[in-house]
Amino acid sequence: MYVTDQGIKISLEGVVTLEHVNRVYKMGNHEIHALKDVSLSLETGKLVVVLGPSGSGKTTLLNVLGAIDKCDGRIIVNDLDITRLNKKQLTKYRREKCGFIFQFFNLLPVFNALENVEYAIELASRLSRKEVTKRATDYLRKVGLFEKRYHFPSQLSGGEQQRVAAARAMAKNPELLLCDEPTGELSVAEGKQVLAVLQNMMKERPDVLTVLVTHNQKISQIGDIVIRLRSGEVDSIEKQTPIHAEELSW
Ligand code: ADP
Ligand code: MG
Repeated sequence: MYVTDQGIKISLEGVVTLEHVNRVYKMGNHEIHALKDVSLSLETGKLVVVLGPSGSGKTTLLNVLGAIDKCDGRIIVNDLDITRLNKKQLTKYRREKCGFIFQFFNLLPVFNALENVEYAIELASRLSRKEVTKRATDYLRKVGLFEKRYHFPSQLSGGEQQRVAAARAMAKNPELLLCDEPTGELSVAEGKQVLAVLQNMMKERPDVLTVLVTHNQKISQIGDIVIRLRSGEVDSIEKQTPIHAEELSW
């Protein structure tokens, strides 16, 4: 349950809402307005693509959704107002409710693929050791890496590392899957494979909201909703029939 400034009670099950979100970075006596009065309501089960040129605020938007960065305004994730949480609650929110996929994979280099996924599950849940291994193995199978589960990141291609990152992000059962230019470092073929994995995992999880940011207009075709950002402002929001990642080319 969420109470508006006017005292109206609204149930927001399955919805992520941003209300007048602003993020201003102060650089000496210079201010950068990275997000300007962003208000959005997003349904779970959807793939939302945030499209915009470099510097338009895409990463800032993902970071405030994942509580990696702070902001002014309100963000409500399935009834939880994340802009009112204390430090401990924020850590719990990030660990348990947010799956992150970054441009540069960010796997732990001293852990193999299986251990990378297991570690994320351990931080987010209270499963037994055996259950953790089973779930991590299942997710690596889903992303086509069962055979390579004992490989270290340095023994995997970029696309394979990103598929491990996708397994790691989803295996913790997040409410939000936040993907920042996940194909930015990959060849088109590997990038398409990663996007196909994300689309397939999404279909199994209608309770998850996936937000994928990209500067690539072609990639935005896989979204159910495309939000265009320009200079930190929402320029347009469009619904569309998504195409499958296999059909993309860029
Ligand atoms: P995008 O991901 O679309 O390229 P960003 O969200 O990274 O854009 O950045 C939006 C604007 O905010 C840019 O002008 C960028 O330089 C600025 N910015 C982002 N992060 C910081 C920061 N930590 N400190 C100062 N300025 C920042
Ligand atoms: Mg960025």
